[in-house]
Order: sequence, then C-alpha cells, then structure tokens
Amino acid sequence: MDVRILAAFLDALTPPLCVLCRGPPGGLPWLCAGCLRRFDVARGAVCLRCGATLPLPAPLCGACPDWTTRFVAARAAAPHTGVARELVHALKFKGILAAARPLGHLVAAAARQLALPEGVVVCPVPLHWTKRRQRGFNQAAEIARVAAKELGLRLAPRLLRRARPGVGAVHRSASGRAREVRGAFRADPAVRGEAVLLVDDVMTTGATLGACARALARRGAKAVWAATATRSPSPR
Ligand SMILES: [Zn+2]
Ligand SMILES: [Zn+2]
Repeated sequence: MDVRILAAFLDALTPPLCVLCRGPPGGLPWLCAGCLRRFDVARGAVCLRCGATLPLPAPLCGACPDWTTRFVAARAAAPHTGVARELVHALKFKGILAAARPLGHLVAAAARQLALPEGVVVCPVPLHWTKRRQRGFNQAAEIARVAAKELGLRLAPRLLRRARPGVGAVHRSASGRAREVRGAFRADPAVRGEAVLLVDDVMTTGATLGACARALARRGAKAVWAATATRSPSPR
C-alpha cells in the first residue's frame, strides 16, 4: 500500500494533534478548540480590490484608486495576529510543515471571495534558490499545494522564479519594499494566456505580489489574482 494512502487512513482514524500546542484535535483536525478560539477574524468592510479592512464601508480603500499593481484583486483570510500569525511562524521559522494545512485552508477561504473564473492555475510566490536551500522548503509552495487541492485547481509552481534574492525585512516602508522586489521575478513563457492565482503566506504592502503579477503579465498571463493566509497592516 502507498504510504500516503496509509497515512491518510491513519489520519482518519486518529485526527492529528493541534499543530500549535500539540493538544487534542478539536474544531479542526489540526487546530485544537482552544487555539481555534484565539483566532482573530477580520470584521467590517474590505476594499473590493486589495482586500484591506476599511474603517467605514466604502467600495475602495484610500490607496487603491492609484494602485499600480497588475492583479485584478487580492484577499487575505485573516489579520496577521493571534493564531494566524502563530501558524505562519510555525511553518516559516520552526519548520512545522503540518502548519501548511490550516494555512492552505485559509488561502482557499480567501480565494473563494475572489469569484475566480474556471481554469485558474495556482502559483506560489517563489523564494530565491539560496533562501529555499537555507529553509529547506518554500512556505508559499507548501500552502499553495494544500489550497489548490481544496479548491480543485491545478498547481503550477514553475510559472515563476525569483531571479534576485531579497535582503530581508530591512525595508519597512512601502516604497523600500517596492524597490527591493522590482524586477526580482521571472515568469515562464508557458504562462501565456493563463489566468493565475498567486499564493503567499502574508500580504503586507502588496509589493511582492505586485512584482510577481507584473512578471506574469509581461509574459502574457491573461489575468492575475492573489490570495494570502494573512494580511499585515500596511506601513503605507
Ligand atoms: Zn492548540
Ligand atoms: Zn484597496
């Protein structure tokens, strides 16, 4: 028997422990009831384009009328706080790969708000190969795999690559982040005519997703959307 089938069978018999506290499974197979209760949900209206939460109901946020990114719309499932933030850290910094399961589920929930057309392909935001080697995996790719499966969409992880490494989180400002990622991504010619859903763990200023969308558009992508598990308040 295939080991993955066996693992799925055992999972069904004994739901896996909570990925955060190793407590007994509760509301979800990978988050216990206690951790699930600590989950922050974004309340109120969101910008129809970038998905930012709005203090007052309005169709667009203040930044979107002159938004220069190439994606049609973006959505995040939760604010980058509490349990959602802990899940991102567990995956990215502690290497707990099982955390990609709830994060992928969150991305799928965010993507369902986007009214995506049929045939969209799912592409994770790539890491530069030096970073991927250092971490051992690309967190966005792990999350995208789970989300694509849940949404029943095709995963296309090789449509983008990062040609230039980032320098980390030193650029806090929106303009600094935009400079850092400008021209950092290369898209494969196979993207011509495709509609693409970009997936990442966190959206902050949207600069990284925007640079990816531009690279895809330059190679002839038909349209690009973005879905992330969490959204960090923009420094803009
Ligand atoms: Zn827990
Ligand atoms: Zn907006």
